[in-house]
Amino acid sequence: MRVGVPRETRDGERRVALTPNTVKRLVESGHEVRVEAGAGKKAYFPDSKYVEAGARVVRAASSLWGEADILVKVNPPGPRRSVHEIELLREGAVLVGLLNPLGDPLVIQRLADRMITAFSMEMIPRVSRAQSMDALSSQAAVAGYRAVLLGASTLGKFFPMLTTAAGTMRPARVFILGAGVAGLQAIATARRLGAVVEAFDIRPAVKEEVESLGATFVKVELEEETEGTGGYAREVSEAAKDREREVLAERIAAADVVITTAQVQGKRAPLLVTEGMVASMSRGSVIVDLAAEQGGNCELTVPGKELVRGGVTIAGPLNLPSSMPTHASQMYSKNASSLLEYIVREGELHLDFEDDIIDGCCVSHEGVVRHERIREAIAQEKSRKA
Ligand code: NAD
Repeated sequence: MRVGVPRETRDGERRVALTPNTVKRLVESGHEVRVEAGAGKKAYFPDSKYVEAGARVVRAASSLWGEADILVKVNPPGPRRSVHEIELLREGAVLVGLLNPLGDPLVIQRLADRMITAFSMEMIPRVSRAQSMDALSSQAAVAGYRAVLLGASTLGKFFPMLTTAAGTMRPARVFILGAGVAGLQAIATARRLGAVVEAFDIRPAVKEEVESLGATFVKVELEEETEGTGGYAREVSEAAKDREREVLAERIAAADVVITTAQVQGKRAPLLVTEGMVASMSRGSVIVDLAAEQGGNCELTVPGKELVRGGVTIAGPLNLPSSMPTHASQMYSKNASSLLEYIVREGELHLDFEDDIIDGCCVSHEGVVRHERIREAIAQEKSRKA
């Protein structure tokens, strides 16, 4: 099949969907791969590496998009000069990417109208058979790592304990809220830097993982079911969130750095750090809110901005994976190519909708938006715009 890899056009995006190593494997297994000139440049994969891998580097976006059987992207298609990228795809083509189907559902409607078979990498179920395709997890691991580095570089203190001739510096105290993929990576990174780390998650099942990374698990009795389906959490009641905030307030006041990653798939991020809690923190402390894009775990977070309130820095970084583009691309490329290998068998598209992986992540096929949740989001978006 003819696989296309375009240059990402979204502002600030430095990742590329397929790296030369992956392209080489695809070419060896019989695919023709075309890569748009400069697609990997910002992730430090020059065109020459794609040529060595057996790809054809093309300059005209129209031939790349219009002639691809399968187009692999990082971000959803968007405007490109005077056209929308969806219009460049040929009818019946396949599109794979982080398509943000619940955040921007009208794009999925547009793909369906154009008869594109679209796979949303965010919708890959968290089952062990799909681990190698789980792009949300690979990119969240990058974000968790970078969040700690951001916190460490903003804090006016060392992370590790330091005994020097100039005195002993106490280790930084880091509190991590939400111990999913990003949270666990944040714990591991903060521990490697020598901080004293505490963490909390509503799913008690993660206690052991938190402890095995050398952090202390903060206990809050919530008395309700917190495990949802597909490896995700279930949204808890407002009463439970109140109870949680009560216990967490003390831990937050004592922390030098708070990293928040709490999220329930498809919902607004739970509000866990109030303005009052920020006021209780020492001057110079830092909050890094990874859930900024979903509304933020901290009441004061402004997505994409860093602000200072009462001496406390509150950062709401967006797209941290793009700030580490080489490894983020390498991991995404592995995820996307695993999905390609799964849906293409002997050179043909092989779609078994009884399969939970294909059923889960295929969002548009034969002119139909395939998931009720996305159809509802489309209806809401249309009525909001009407
Ligand atoms: P995840 O689903 O693996 O983890 C989220 C965790 O939050 C889960 O363990 C869940 O149990 C926990 N949680 C839910 N409600 C909670 C509550 N009320 N209190 C405490 N914990 C609660 O998600 P992830 O892949 O680790 O991603 C975490 C967040 O980071 C998401 O908001 C994601 O969008 C974001 N993210 C941000 C960037 C960025 O660049 N800013 C990049 C990747 C991911």
